[in-house]
Amino acid sequence: MRPACAVLDGEALRHNLKVVRAQSSAQIMAVIKANGYGHGLCWSARNLPEADGFGVASLEEGLALRAAGIDRDICLLEGFFSAEEIPLIIQERLAPVIHEHHQIAALQRYAGPGAFDAWIKIDTGMHRLGFAPDEVRAAQAALEALPVIRRIGLMSHLASAETRACPETTHQIATFRTLAETAPRSLANSAGILLWPQSHHEWVRPGLMLFGASPLPDADGPTLGLRPVMTLKSRLISIRRRHAGDAIGYGGAYRCPEDMPVGVVGIGYGDGYPREFRRPPSVLISGRRAPVVGRVSMDMVTVDLRSIPEPDIGDEVILWGEGLPVEEVADAAGTVPYTLLCGLTQRLPRWPAA
Ligand SMILES: *Cc1c(COP(=O)(O)O)cnc(C)c1O
Repeated sequence: MRPACAVLDGEALRHNLKVVRAQSSAQIMAVIKANGYGHGLCWSARNLPEADGFGVASLEEGLALRAAGIDRDICLLEGFFSAEEIPLIIQERLAPVIHEHHQIAALQRYAGPGAFDAWIKIDTGMHRLGFAPDEVRAAQAALEALPVIRRIGLMSHLASAETRACPETTHQIATFRTLAETAPRSLANSAGILLWPQSHHEWVRPGLMLFGASPLPDADGPTLGLRPVMTLKSRLISIRRRHAGDAIGYGGAYRCPEDMPVGVVGIGYGDGYPREFRRPPSVLISGRRAPVVGRVSMDMVTVDLRSIPEPDIGDEVILWGEGLPVEEVADAAGTVPYTLLCGLTQRLPRWPAA
């Protein structure tokens, strides 16, 4: 069997939730959309017994959590996409975000039984989802008039919370304060929790930081006291001595500068390890860094083993996680840790840490 796998540390997840608690007295809506940022939707929910609620992207994710026996608050961060979802939302006690007129119209047409809690999304400056500031009062009044709506919360999202002393964020927070006159209110994502205490309100919405990665460009997870939940691992499946001038892998993209050992790791872009890099990343073998050389293949990665004292077939290789922050690999790939974690493919097995 292929040795590639993601080892998941539930204790680290619970630890990171405590880090959020230490930063904020607000209730915590743990955002576990996109298959729990690649860690597994239900695994993430089960390993967050202290979360006050969950945030997911869609009805199917909410239903999967209910089917797994999760009975806490579940917010659908993009609400419903069609009116047919309304009965299921009621039946499964989900709380959708209402951000568009078509959703209000669908609720006004709904004549069935039952009711649910909802959030109104306010566009305070991100210009993605939400009612414009001058539409909020009318949207709120329209929803309050509907028997299908129980309690209404007010939500917005920060566009640049990871930037310290950002005037746009200050402006978003001020706009939100003016418009969101009633609790519950929710504005802060991970970066908001870490850098903008005035954005916390009644509910914070951490995603990335729960999984141990930092949303801030100038600090990694361990620096913030977070622990990586996932360690992406595989093993050396081949070690060969190559000669000076030998070209390695597809397109011969790397040429050995001298006689040297080159290892092959059993993992590739078919598992979600990135293929495009702006500078070569490293992997971790026996606690030391070995640079990736040549192109990443679908199932294999070649590494320069010159820095590893006595490499052996079967040696464990860490691609990111414990000892090698995913932020570092993301930076080498010119991306953010979000895309690497979410980009892991279905064939990659996820194992709970022993
Ligand atoms: C994904 C998401 C979050 C969590 O963001 P992080 O940066 O991962 O903490 C919070 N709120 C909304 C609306 C989201 O879509």
